Amino acid sequence: KTVCVTGASGFVASNLVKLLLEQGYSVKASVRSPNNPAKTEHLLKLDGAKERLHLFKADLLEEGSFDAAVNGCDGVFHTASPFLTAVSDPQTELIEPALKGTLNVLGSCSKASSVKRVVRVLTSSLAAVAFNTRPKTPEVVIDETWFSDPDFCKEMKLWYVLSKTLAEEAAWKFAEEKGMDIVTINPAMVIGPLLQPTLNTSAESIANLLKGSETYSNSISGWVNVKDVANAHIQAFEIPSASGRYCLVESVVHNSELVQILKKLYPSSQLPQKCADDKPFAPTFQVSKEKVKSLGIEYIPLEQSLMETVESLREKNFVQ
Ligand code: NDP
Repeated sequence: KTVCVTGASGFVASNLVKLLLEQGYSVKASVRSPNNPAKTEHLLKLDGAKERLHLFKADLLEEGSFDAAVNGCDGVFHTASPFLTAVSDPQTELIEPALKGTLNVLGSCSKASSVKRVVRVLTSSLAAVAFNTRPKTPEVVIDETWFSDPDFCKEMKLWYVLSKTLAEEAAWKFAEEKGMDIVTINPAMVIGPLLQPTLNTSAESIANLLKGSETYSNSISGWVNVKDVANAHIQAFEIPSASGRYCLVESVVHNSELVQILKKLYPSSQLPQKCADDKPFAPTFQVSKEKVKSLGIEYIPLEQSLMETVESLREKNFVQ
C-alpha cells in the first residue's frame, strides 16, 4: 500500500515514516526543504527508504502544494503543523499554516478521491480537546467528547493550542461537507526517541528540565511515547471501523512529579528543586484510555518514554 505523510521531517512524522517502512508500506513523504540534508538525511537512511520512500516538496501555505504527494495514495497522514511556543506573530507563524495547511491537504485529498477512496488521519492534539472553561479536578475524566474553546484559547493567549483547535474544527467541517472519511489522533505531549537532528518543542521541554534550571513551572501535562503515537496513526488507518477522534495519553502528571521521576532515573543530573511560584499545585485531571483500546495500543510507561528521550537528547548532545 502507498500512503502519504505530510511534514515528514518532523519528530512525530519521522517515527511514523520509520514504522510505515518497517511494515512494508510505500511512503510519499512531503517536506518543505527537500534539499536540506538536516530535513531529509535521517529519513533517507531508514530501513526500506531506498526502495519505498519518495520525497515531495510541499508547503502548507501554498494551495495545491500537496496534490502530487497525495495523488494515488491509499491513505494520507497529515502531521505537518508548526509546534512552537514562542512566536511574535501567532497568526502567520501558527494559525495560518495549521488551518490553511489542513484545508490544503484535505483539498488535495478530495481531488484525489475521485480516483480512489482515501482514508485520512489528521494529527490533531490534546490541545484541541482539553482547553476550555470546564473545571479540572482529579476526578474529571477528559475524553473525546471534549473540545477546546477558541475564545478561551485567545483569552489565555494559548496560540499553538488555538491553532490546533481551529485546524481540527475546520477539518471536521470540511469532511462533513465533502462526505470525507477522516480520523483524528489527539496526543498529549509526545516524547521518546528523536530521529531528526533538530530539537522539537516537546522533547525540548524535557531538555530544559535537565539543563539545570532552578524552577519548574506549576503545570500539569499529559505524556505519550512517539512510538505509540505512530502506531495509533497506522491502526486508525488500517482498522476499518476506526472513526472520530482518539485521545492518546499514557500519564498525566504535575511537573513536580516529572522532576521526581527524572531524579530517580538520573540522580546525578541537575534538576530544578522548586516550583516557579508558591501557589497551590495546579489540579490534576484524567484522560480517558477507553476509546484508544480499540486501536490495540498498550501504552509504553512514562518512565521508559523519559529514558528513551534522555538517551536521544544525550546522543545528539542537546543535554550533557
Ligand atoms: P515538529 O516541529 O518536529 O514537526 C513539525 C512539522 O511540520 C515539520 O516537518 C515542519 O517542517 C512542518 N511544517 C511546519 N510549518 C510548515 C509549513 N509552512 N509547510 C510545510 N511544513 C511545515 O513537531 P512534532 O513532530 O512534534 O509535531 C507534528 C504534529 O504533531 C503537529 O501537527 C503537532 O501539532 C502534533 N502534535 C505534537 C505533539 C508533541 O508533543 N510533539 C503533541 C500533540 C500533537 P520543517 O521541518 O520544514 O520545519
